[in-house]
Amino acid sequence: MDPIKSIVDIKRYFQKLPGIGEKTAERLAYATLKLSPDDLKNFSEAIMAVKDKVHRCPNCGVFIDSDECPICSDISRDQDTLLVVNETRNVISFEKNNIYHGQYFVLGGTISPLKNVSPDDVHIPELLSVIDKNNVKEVILALNSTVDGETTALYIAKLLENKQVKVSRLAYGLPLGADLEYVDDMTITRSLNGRVVLSEYKKNE
Ligand SMILES: [Zn+2]
Repeated sequence: MDPIKSIVDIKRYFQKLPGIGEKTAERLAYATLKLSPDDLKNFSEAIMAVKDKVHRCPNCGVFIDSDECPICSDISRDQDTLLVVNETRNVISFEKNNIYHGQYFVLGGTISPLKNVSPDDVHIPELLSVIDKNNVKEVILALNSTVDGETTALYIAKLLENKQVKVSRLAYGLPLGADLEYVDDMTITRSLNGRVVLSEYKKNE
C-alpha cells in the first residue's frame, strides 16, 4: 500500500519540530485523524497565527503578540541591568520565578561555527546598540552551559571589554551542557545570585 499523502505531509512538518523523530511524527500525524473538524480548524488557525501575530519586540527581542512589550513598557523594572538569554522561553523561566526585575535581551540562538551560525544571525549587533542606547550598567550572560553557549558568552564578553559596562555570567553551579529551560528554579536563583563578574569598567584604568 502506498503511503497516504496527507499523512506523509503532516508527518514531514512535525519532524521539523525539535525533539520529534520519525516514529513520533508518524504517530502525531495519524492522531490528527481523530481530532474533530473544529479542533483541526482551530489547530491550523493557531499555527497560522504564530507567523501573523507573533513578532520580536524591537527592543528586547522577546516574542510578543501585541504592540507593547509587557517587559519593556514596565517602568518599575530596573533599567540598569540587562540579562542576555537564548530564547523567549528562558525569559519566561526567570519571570515565573520572580527572581529578576531588570531588562532582558533575547539573542534567538547561539553562535555556532559548526552550524554556520554567525554573530549577526543571533542579533549581537542589536544587543550592542541596546546596551549603548539604554545606558546599561550591567550585562548578565545567562546562556546555556553548552559549547555554543560558552562560545557566545565569551564572544559577547570580549566585545564589551572596553565599554563602560560590568559583564557577569551565571555561576558555574549550572550542570555542564545544561539547557536553562530544564534547570530547576532553585539552581537558577542560586546561579543568578552567585553570578561571576567577567569584566568591570574601571574609570582610572
Ligand atoms: Zn521588549
